[in-house]
Amino acid sequence: MSDAILVINAGSSSLKFSVFLEAGAALEPCLGGQLEGLYTAPRFKAKDAAGNVIGDKQWPEGEALGHDGGLMHLAGFLREQLGDHTLAAVGHRVVHGGLDYAAPLLINSEIVAQLDKLVPLAPLHQPNNLKPIRLLLQNRPELPQVACFDTAFHRAQPAVAQAFALPAEITDRGVRRYGFHGLSYEYIASALPEIDMQAAHGRSIVLHLGNGASMCAIANGQSVASTMGFTAVDGLPMGTRCGNLDPGVVLYLMDELKMDARAIEKLIYQQSGLLGVSGISSDMRALLESTDPKAAFAVELFIYRIARELGSLAAALGGLDALVFTAGIGEHSAAIRERVCRAAAWLGVELDATANAAGQSRISTPGSKTAAWVIPTNEELMIARHTRNILDTLR
Ligand code: ADP
Repeated sequence: MSDAILVINAGSSSLKFSVFLEAGAALEPCLGGQLEGLYTAPRFKAKDAAGNVIGDKQWPEGEALGHDGGLMHLAGFLREQLGDHTLAAVGHRVVHGGLDYAAPLLINSEIVAQLDKLVPLAPLHQPNNLKPIRLLLQNRPELPQVACFDTAFHRAQPAVAQAFALPAEITDRGVRRYGFHGLSYEYIASALPEIDMQAAHGRSIVLHLGNGASMCAIANGQSVASTMGFTAVDGLPMGTRCGNLDPGVVLYLMDELKMDARAIEKLIYQQSGLLGVSGISSDMRALLESTDPKAAFAVELFIYRIARELGSLAAALGGLDALVFTAGIGEHSAAIRERVCRAAAWLGVELDATANAAGQSRISTPGSKTAAWVIPTNEELMIARHTRNILDTLR
């Protein structure tokens, strides 16, 4: 029976999980799912690799499980499902690795204490990421756990790409551009050589367009620049996040509207972006289906900001060989991809409208100077690979 690797992505009210089985050099998906509404009306759902439902349970409203209860339920479920397979390690998505952690690492209690110090850099995500790690350290201390950081891939960026033009003492406190979605970009960088060796060794811009959205310039497999900065609210407008904002706006909100940090946090993380501009929805599908001019304007702003960032990232790369679309919107919305590709015509992208509408992998014409691809992301597999690599060093 093979060894199993569990991947956990813990959010503020949800736990997403996947299990991969080691099959020689490969990692085969075995099952996956999520627990949502951990503090309100918990709901557990799991599917096997073929997409069949293998777990579905709903708790009554108000019967909070919390992260601990959720993890306990998951542990019981996995004991039943894994049968004779042995759970060999757990890999966790951890949003912030700060300045020190540029690669995945094996967790112990000292490392958790270090990661806890990074909570001020990602107060909405880091504490939740650490909850299941702590619980497993207490209950299964012998089980290897690996932290995989969303910032790590970007630590290779040149110093100028990571710096704000602030006084050195502020920069030295760690106030700098980190970039996020690193596990997604790392996965795409690992998949690109299989379909476009020239771009993989050259210059590409990857567009991770989901509820959270960002773009990353990659040269020869390494991150060179990204649209997200100190936090994941920077860069593109997103489902509910505003993206790039003149810091003077924050001062205005404080001085004139008497908003405090928490009120501004709510505004820029939860009430802005596609939702705030349209006043209708944070969901791109709903906006594309709507006939309301405000929905159309929100989509237009999204495309405009992407187009501007394309120019900026292409400048950081000194040219462009490929665009790669990924995540919910990037993988599924032919209409958005078409508009982005048209805006990138000056960068040598010639859209193949038929291939794009048909959902093909290559969506640029054979003669296009710059290629355009759609590659489904797989952050879970990236975490499982890192976890297995570290596990191998222990074997
Ligand atoms: P998350 O960042 O939460 O992982 P996803 O990567 O799943 O999000 O992306 C969610 C976004 O993808 C939503 O805005 C959703 O509307 C959008 N999306 C999914 N399918 C389509 C589609 N067929 N057309 C347009 N947008 C889509």
